[in-house]
Amino acid sequence: MEESIVRVTGDQALVKKLNKSIVLDTIRRNGPLSRTDVSERTGLNKATVSNLTLELLEQNLVEETGLGESSGGRKPLMLLFNGSAGCVIGIELGVTLVKSVLTNLTGSILLERSASLGEHDPDTAFAVICDTVRPLIEAMPPTPHGLVGIGIGVPGMVDEAGLILYAPNLGWEGVDLRSRLEAEFAVPVVVDNEANVGAAGEREYGAGQHVRHLVYVSAGMGLGSGMIIDGQLYKGAWGYAGETGHMSIESEGRLCSCGSRGCWELYASERAYAYATEDGRPALPAETTSELTAYAHSGEASVLQLYQEIGRRLGIGITNLVNGFNPEKIVVGGPLTEAKEWIEPSMLATIAERALPYHRRELAVSFSELGSRSAVLGAAHLAVSQFLGRVRVSL
Ligand SMILES: [Zn+2]
Repeated sequence: MEESIVRVTGDQALVKKLNKSIVLDTIRRNGPLSRTDVSERTGLNKATVSNLTLELLEQNLVEETGLGESSGGRKPLMLLFNGSAGCVIGIELGVTLVKSVLTNLTGSILLERSASLGEHDPDTAFAVICDTVRPLIEAMPPTPHGLVGIGIGVPGMVDEAGLILYAPNLGWEGVDLRSRLEAEFAVPVVVDNEANVGAAGEREYGAGQHVRHLVYVSAGMGLGSGMIIDGQLYKGAWGYAGETGHMSIESEGRLCSCGSRGCWELYASERAYAYATEDGRPALPAETTSELTAYAHSGEASVLQLYQEIGRRLGIGITNLVNGFNPEKIVVGGPLTEAKEWIEPSMLATIAERALPYHRRELAVSFSELGSRSAVLGAAHLAVSQFLGRVRVSL
């Protein structure tokens, strides 16, 4: 008997937490709303909505604003999510650059910092990260909740507990950046793969808003994908989904560091620069995307040819993703988007030529709207999401 009472109490607490999260999320996404609107949208009764709203008002997460349209009787006060209730920090740990932003709870950037990363060992990277984060915290405006969390996107595989299992381009295995950052800054830290945080950023604030089935392709020194399936980031059985850069597009192609052959990223990311002279093609005049795009602007034939070929190879891999996942939208982001104007035509032509007709009929393909900020803003959003305690129910 006693046992069942304990269990019922536990269930009620969970139901309340779930309902509160639904009310807050509804107001955050659709506000301003009256209490009646919230009740209608969520299916929760008015008394429950009033009680939960009162708690959210006391926590400064929701504010009342102006008067709405009356449906007879007194005009209702409207409820709005209070984006200024606190701040978060979003970080993108790149192979050569660390970028950090301070945002409010609706993703408005208040301040940003970046620093180059010379050495790749974890101690150096941690020190560089801290150097970009500290000035943001020092200049943070006062808010009711202060700094509520830090999110970080990293170029590697991350497990469910936030441990960086393997980051080949940094040479890392088993690095617990999360615990170190939590000890340093005394706030919850969430770590995820940079393609996943890029997908979250575009879905929340950029080209992927209101898209339920989205594949975000991050193209830089490697390739990776963040997949949003039915509105949720798909992470696979153990959290490693999205390593599409190692999808083989040439069965007997170039040997990859992962041990396989013909991996997509060897042909369709910045890693393709190293193979530019294959098959007797002329050498490139430079090695980095920003230098090469300058040559592309002046019409340098070898560079134009390279980007056309990278675009074609991107299109081939994207076609495989489109045929396999049937997304509504593909968003291409990451450092290679600097070369968008020379990559895009052959990429789109290849998809149009090769993807299955039903799959491509209403498919949208675009480059990221947030430019180089998809990942930092997505990382910031993960921290917001964790703070707001969105409850996931999975069966
Ligand atoms: Zn590979």
